[in-house]
Amino acid sequence: MSEARAALEARRADAVARLAHLDDVLAGLRRDRGADSADDEHDPEGATLSSEWSRLEGLRADAERDVAETDAALGRVEQGTYGVCIDCRRRIPAARLAARPDATRCVACAEKAGA
Ligand SMILES: [Zn+2]
Repeated sequence: MSEARAALEARRADAVARLAHLDDVLAGLRRDRGADSADDEHDPEGATLSSEWSRLEGLRADAERDVAETDAALGRVEQGTYGVCIDCRRRIPAARLAARPDATRCVACAEKAGA
């Protein structure tokens, strides 16, 4: 299971780096925009900034979720339950874990669960 751990740790490091980068970019936007210029209608660049802002916030939420999910998967490695489907309790195929190291269900159960 040490391969799984290494893959998860690499994935976590990547997500943490993305999160840090997005925090930097968002902090930069906040600085450029100033604290009280949320008046999009009278600011020709406001609307563009707002949509860029929501896009970045979305990416940041994704990165945060990736960190949480890989943390949870690393916890399962510690407990020895990693790679076992949470629904049918069968082993999740290695190919699926390679593609989705944080998968908690086998393909069949994931489809049933709509995930
Ligand atoms: Zn299953």
